[in-house]
Amino acid sequence: MAKKLRPKFIFVVGGVLSGVGKGVTSASIGAIMRSKGYKATALKADPYVNVDAGTMNPIEHGEVFVTDDGDETDQDMGNYERFLEIDLTSTNYMTTGRVYQSVIENERSMKYKGRCVQVVPHIPEEIIRRINVARKLHDADITIMEIGGTVGEYENILFLEAIRELKLKNPQDVAVVLVSYLPVPKHIGEMKTKPTQHAARALNHTGINADMIVARGEYELDTPRREKLARFCGVSKEMCISAPDVESIYEIPQKMDDQQIGNKLLKLLGMSSRKSDLTPWLKLNKKISSAKKEVKIGVVGKYFGTGEYTLSDSYISVIEALKHASWANGAKPKLVWIDSEDFENNPAKLKTLSDYDGILVPGGFGTRGIEGIISTIKYAREKNIPYLGICYGMQLACIEFVRNVLKKPEAHTVEVDDATVHPVIHVNPNQRKNITNDRYGGTMRLGAYDCDLKKGSVAKKAYGQNAISERHRHRYEFNNDYKEQIDKAGLKISGVNKKEDLVEIVELEKHPFFVGVQFHPEFKSRPMSPHPLFAAFIKAAIT
Ligand code: GLN
Repeated sequence: MAKKLRPKFIFVVGGVLSGVGKGVTSASIGAIMRSKGYKATALKADPYVNVDAGTMNPIEHGEVFVTDDGDETDQDMGNYERFLEIDLTSTNYMTTGRVYQSVIENERSMKYKGRCVQVVPHIPEEIIRRINVARKLHDADITIMEIGGTVGEYENILFLEAIRELKLKNPQDVAVVLVSYLPVPKHIGEMKTKPTQHAARALNHTGINADMIVARGEYELDTPRREKLARFCGVSKEMCISAPDVESIYEIPQKMDDQQIGNKLLKLLGMSSRKSDLTPWLKLNKKISSAKKEVKIGVVGKYFGTGEYTLSDSYISVIEALKHASWANGAKPKLVWIDSEDFENNPAKLKTLSDYDGILVPGGFGTRGIEGIISTIKYAREKNIPYLGICYGMQLACIEFVRNVLKKPEAHTVEVDDATVHPVIHVNPNQRKNITNDRYGGTMRLGAYDCDLKKGSVAKKAYGQNAISERHRHRYEFNNDYKEQIDKAGLKISGVNKKEDLVEIVELEKHPFFVGVQFHPEFKSRPMSPHPLFAAFIKAAIT
């Protein structure tokens, strides 16, 4: 039997600014290690006090990525799943709030046996315990963990302390990668290393030396800058990796492998280097660059344009799933964000929707922009434009149908109108209790649920299976009182969860493609294996 390897850890921290690309760097390192035959898993630590990402506004946070086991996590977890091609669990995600919650619960149940419970060592100890739980669950040779935020701020200091302690105990098993930004100010016209020097020093203040620097920026890292980084940040020249902007994030594993990032880290960790096999990535990138025929998809929702995040952050998995499906169909995706409130203010604008090959309404919450979305769905239904409705996009498609085909104009979701006489989308008694008692955190219908597909349906044809499992994140449900009526009138129920008697998929007959799903298929789309429903939607859009 092969000797069991010592568990190895690669921590990825950020310098200079957030959004620099730590997530994609971590994911790419993971993809490279897996291509070498090592078992790798990836974790994300978010430094905020929220227990999970579920209670945050999308403007604050971006997408909430849902795992099979129902955790509401950060969008980077989606990148890990897409690049490493593995399903992650709640063990792969932690926040300051979650770590403190465990420590406080332990204290309340006398787990510390009367000792004084302190920020150090108990918080870093809990962080390390959690890292090891994930590592063991995934049987990982290499555990990659991204620390949210940037070095030098208050919030992530205890995560850095956990790294310091782990490295102190097992120096040969821990590598630290600093992903930092190298700006090229227009008026100077030269790449500047000083902010990264400061970041490396801020990291030194926490007792950690970076082993590798990933130099993010608009341009390649040139020799003089590489020498400066090495000298002032205390890393060798070979350990400075150039990471300029690229057309598509899926080029990054290859670009990093060309610089031997994987073998350099393996050497540092005392592991044997191995050849990478990135053939699937190469093929994908060929597909991407050879896709010529444009497919124009309108994504209709309320506009999230303010704050730190933009609309595209809020729907990153939807965007990626549309791209995967387009490339698989040999098409080049052109995604256009359409603010549904525009249609409320100016209904004549609805006609512009005829320019699109397909319309997608993603998940959402609340009242703003809803009537504009319902008008959009009516337009797609009547004008035979391929339509994919996800979660709220499915619920609103049902409401549109009951209003305009079954002629019940009062039809609504109780999320918007609690007193509607036609609650097509309603709430079950358990959820009602959560709402009345202000129990919002982690209480939606979350994670993977089974769904049986109806024979002969569009959904069944797309999946090529009788039963599927998909991830959910919603509080409201289709009201079965309307099941027979809509089915009879042509909006067919094509997917149900038998155990809980819930409608999961509806589809319109006699339409090129009109499918609404209560779940979020986008979370399971992978660049090399696009999601079947997205693939079928794009196929309909290009024909
Ligand atoms: N707001 C709806 C619900 O809570 C839909 C949620 C979603 O689209 N993710 O049921």
